[in-house]
Amino acid sequence: QTCLETLGVNKLKEGDTYYSVMTGNTMSLGQGSAFSAHSPIDGKVLSNFLNATPEQLGEVNAELKAAFKALRTIPAPRRGELVRRIGEEARKYKHELAQVIALEAGKIMPEALGEVQEWIDVCDFAVGQSRMLHGLSIVSERPGHRMMEQWQPLGPVAVITAFNFPMAVWSWNAMLGLICGDPILLKPSEKAPLCALAMYQIAQNVLADMPDMPKASVSVMIGDRDLGEAIAASDTFPLVSATGSTAMGRAVAQTVAARLGRSLLELGGNNAMIVSDTADLDLALRAIVFSAAGTAGQRCTTLRRLICHDDIVDGLVSRLAKSYSSLPIGNPLAEGTLVGPLIDAGSYQRMQTALESAKRQGGEIVCGGERVTEGVPQGGYYVKPAIVRISHDAPIVHEETFAPILYVLTYTDFADAIEIQNEVPQGLSSAVFTESMREAEFFMSPAGSDCGIANVNIGTSGAEIGGAFGGEKDTGGGRESGSDAWRNYMRRTTNTVNYGGDLPLAQGIVFE
Ligand code: NAD
Repeated sequence: QTCLETLGVNKLKEGDTYYSVMTGNTMSLGQGSAFSAHSPIDGKVLSNFLNATPEQLGEVNAELKAAFKALRTIPAPRRGELVRRIGEEARKYKHELAQVIALEAGKIMPEALGEVQEWIDVCDFAVGQSRMLHGLSIVSERPGHRMMEQWQPLGPVAVITAFNFPMAVWSWNAMLGLICGDPILLKPSEKAPLCALAMYQIAQNVLADMPDMPKASVSVMIGDRDLGEAIAASDTFPLVSATGSTAMGRAVAQTVAARLGRSLLELGGNNAMIVSDTADLDLALRAIVFSAAGTAGQRCTTLRRLICHDDIVDGLVSRLAKSYSSLPIGNPLAEGTLVGPLIDAGSYQRMQTALESAKRQGGEIVCGGERVTEGVPQGGYYVKPAIVRISHDAPIVHEETFAPILYVLTYTDFADAIEIQNEVPQGLSSAVFTESMREAEFFMSPAGSDCGIANVNIGTSGAEIGGAFGGEKDTGGGRESGSDAWRNYMRRTTNTVNYGGDLPLAQGIVFE
């Protein structure tokens, strides 16, 4: 709780109830039903809120539109200065911010610190990018003319986030959106609202010292699915960036498309690693354990399917089981813990149901799956990460269960391994461990992995912010963070300028 005081989050409330609507100018309680967010560490109540309602969105939208009018004319490098200072503030409070993540999302401290570091890194990236919002200059077919492209601010952007990356996902969107001239409204997961308040407070600390910047550029509304649906339907937002389950993304995409808006979707994954008979198995082992058991299997990029060559599968599985048996499971705030809790009871239930389905579908549980109740805080859902040997075409293997279950599948020919890798509906992250140049290149070729992320000799999780992050198929097709993802937050204009004294028409058309 001291972290909330240090960050000033404890002031964002009336009595015991936190504000649900915050625009920098106004702070108000929600007008909907009451809810509490619990810590996955021990199940205790961390915060109380009233849901912000779709009606309250109307007032916020007016503020966002006014903020956009101001922000779009502020030079982009000055907007970069705002983001630079936000990055400095996040650096200053890195530890406290990580503690809020650990409390709400149950991440171990090194991973929570890593998440805040992503925010800091994307600030640095965005500051540089604020001087590089380049368009093309294009030759014209007409004499005395020239053409160019410009990238213009898009408008208010809504960011709907999932519980498992409560700070990183907002920061990928918000830091780039801000340099592009777009005010950002965050609707966080109802499981991690204090993270949203902490980020809001950090940004508002900076905005207070920059009077030329509209404060509503960083706004937050805390609410449930109804609010998310209202945001998707609202034409205040030319872009809705939504991170979460595929079911949520499908709903958001349809609503946004019906009003011809744009959506930027980062949805579920069902990530695989192929381990070839040529692989460096020591390296592979470390990558598998971190990718499959890290964050208690609650990353979108968590390794869920291990596709092993027949010749190495038995040896690798027994080494993995040994390594799993010594994983320190427990309080994520305690030093040395590597596996923290699942987010809640529902998540534990879904894990158990998936394991039951796997058994019914011919799977053999090699290890794990049980709840851990000794040596861990009571009230939290701690589990032993599970390894299951099963056939690649068992239906459960094609689903994302957001828990630490690693399905071990086998292959004989490398081409079949690629088929297995690509046969699921999701297309986020993938990896191959191989010492064969041909296999590595095939994996990355047009006939190789169909995922947005295809790694060689590293695991499926733990992306760097410099790359474009996202995936295909049921993962939604969005790309966020690095590379040219900034273009999501801008609109493109093509300008043709006539500096001659004549009016030649394109395609040589004569109209006189
Ligand atoms: P979730 O889908 O339950 O919720 C995500 C957000 O969507 C929440 O803010 C929720 O209130 C909102 N929401 C739910 N239904 C909605 C609707 N119909 N309209 C508008 N908003 C709605 O997801 P979760 O359990 O918080 O997160 C886990 C999921 O997120 C996993 O599937 C994981 O793979 C995915 N995820 C993907 C990425 C990525 O970058 N691809 C990153 C993190 C998490």
